[in-house]
Amino acid sequence: MATTASVPMARIAGGPTENDAGCSPDKPCRLTVLGATGSIGTSTLDLVGRNPELFEIVALTAQTQVEQLAALAIRHRAKVAVIGDETQLAALRELLAGAGIAAMGGEAAVVEAATMPADCVMAAIVGAAGLKPTYAAALQGRRVALANKECLVSAGDVFTKAIAQSGAELLPVDSEHSAVFQALAGSDAAAIEKIVLTASGGPFRTWTREQLAAATPDQALKHPNWSMGAKVTIDSATLMNKGLELIEAFHLFPVGVDALDCVVHPQSVVHCLVSYKDGSVMAQMAPPDMRTPIAVALAWPRRMAAPTEKLDLARLGTLSFEAPDEARFPALAIAKAALRRGGAAPAILNAANEIAVAAFLERRLKFCDIASLVDDALEKAEKRGLAGDAGCLDDVLAIDAAARRLAVELMSRY
Ligand code: NAD
Ligand code: MG
Repeated sequence: MATTASVPMARIAGGPTENDAGCSPDKPCRLTVLGATGSIGTSTLDLVGRNPELFEIVALTAQTQVEQLAALAIRHRAKVAVIGDETQLAALRELLAGAGIAAMGGEAAVVEAATMPADCVMAAIVGAAGLKPTYAAALQGRRVALANKECLVSAGDVFTKAIAQSGAELLPVDSEHSAVFQALAGSDAAAIEKIVLTASGGPFRTWTREQLAAATPDQALKHPNWSMGAKVTIDSATLMNKGLELIEAFHLFPVGVDALDCVVHPQSVVHCLVSYKDGSVMAQMAPPDMRTPIAVALAWPRRMAAPTEKLDLARLGTLSFEAPDEARFPALAIAKAALRRGGAAPAILNAANEIAVAAFLERRLKFCDIASLVDDALEKAEKRGLAGDAGCLDDVLAIDAAARRLAVELMSRY
């Protein structure tokens, strides 16, 4: 893997762009939301509902939550509603009867929704399932508001190449990356010394190894600061999330792997620290509510109102920072090693982690075995010659599928 990423800084940072898709009452933003029923999807639609003059909803997609999808499509007067699980298409049609909203179903229909004429696509599907539709949106050359970090982790080079070639605009929604994007303020990559992402430390920040060994899904799902979908919440508890985010940052900000780091900040108020060569450090602050970074991505280069709690530093009193403990949370070091290894290692890491997290949630795998399984899968994949470069999305999807099979195979040892 090259030491710098391939998206030019100008593509993701700076002032008004050629596309200038940011919503305004004169020119409502035609918006598609992939993963509309999830945590990011519903937060996005919450903002849309509060600012109806700024948006026109093109398509909404979901995998299985057919009733919620139909209700959201009716409420936001979407043109199209798409259910990924095709067996629920008949139910969707029935729920939308007479509403003037087209119903579609199946994986290909989700991809089709991503390519319908729109100004902005919110990519908020969870996991590698988001790869194909998000990639299809990127190829259309429009604004992609990217929550689906797995896209950049698994297919970073392929995805950023598609963005650069199509002239699409990539705006990060992940809070730390949105923070960096804002703190960069159009600066030249050469002026940056370091980009540090903050991590809350998750619900187990102060737990001993013995306690971690017995951690249950219910305990891991109780994030102290953020309300998120189950997968990213578990990733936050293992610190794999920060590892995935370092890989995501590598592809978004062309500063090279040595200039990327993370620090634990339990209050989740400061989301990044960007250090410049002149000694200046730009931090971005906001209360932990995803509606802020979502609003930044939707409205950029403008700003829109978000109904979030206002930051009151005097009431907070203290902001604290500490180094992450990679001995208790080995997933972080495993992800960093995959980033340095490059090639398909991050795709294998992501696929194995998705399998491991799903197994933990179903109580088939212990908390500490999530990182061990991912590590084993990476080692075995390397031996089997799976970790080479992926030249196109089909290569990435094939590697993802092989790594999933490998992780399932290895699971029997746990
Ligand atoms: P979620 O589980 O709450 O929602 C996922 C959405 O994706 C749902 O609408 C679901 O129907 C859809 N989906 C699931 N499987 C699918 C499939 N196979 N095909 C098509 N659609 C499918 O997830 P979330 O927490 O909203 O996270 C979405 C993405 O945003 C993830 O990549 C996550 O890492 C990232 N992210 C989330 C947060 C957060 O606060 N929730 C913060 C930062 C980044
Ligand atoms: Mg994040």
